[in-house]
Amino acid sequence: MKTNKTTKAKSFKCKRCGRCCLKYGNMLQASEKESKMWKRQGRQDILSRTKTIKVGNGLVVGYDLWYDPRTDKNVSRCPFLRKAKNKPIYTCTIHDIKPKACKNYPVTKSQAIKVSCRGYGD
Ligand code: SF4
Ligand code: SF4
Repeated sequence: MKTNKTTKAKSFKCKRCGRCCLKYGNMLQASEKESKMWKRQGRQDILSRTKTIKVGNGLVVGYDLWYDPRTDKNVSRCPFLRKAKNKPIYTCTIHDIKPKACKNYPVTKSQAIKVSCRGYGD
């Protein structure tokens, strides 16, 4: 889910329909930098929903998002997405510190079309 602040194309305006989050919200990755930021901020609620990605020699290459801390399983929907009551409007509850992958979405118009993103009009 984007905001006007991170909008790339002038014609783009996020309508907060949540389609991007609903489709890709459980397929994201975060960087070491983002993980460190969440640690500094004491965001255990976020960290407990991430899983370290390591390569063969144990080197950490990123963090897989999002997991259920009780079951250790990948969730079907981002836990930080909230739908407004009685309205098809969605909010990211970690908006200011959400992963870069979310901040940058959609990178291209064709990427937006894949989720029927409403940011370029219906
Ligand atoms: S972190 Fe926020 S923007 Fe990213 S998928 Fe979840 S609700 Fe959407
Ligand atoms: S699909 Fe597009 S319009 Fe809808 S929330 Fe995501 S970025 Fe915004």
